[in-house]
Amino acid sequence: MNCPVCNRPLKSKKSIAKGIGPVCEKKLEQSKNEPPEGQLSFVEETVLVIK
Ligand SMILES: [Zn+2]
Repeated sequence: MNCPVCNRPLKSKKSIAKGIGPVCEKKLEQSKNEPPEGQLSFVEETVLVIK
């Protein structure tokens, strides 16, 4: 399984369970803390496509 954001393979069981790598998870959290103005961020769009 690969990370949907950066397309790198997920190595840890935690990352696989979450479906996202730790680095991209942090990016995702940051993007949530800073909501884009009327537009989805790249990360959010990627996650929506995966779901
Ligand atoms: Zn990633």
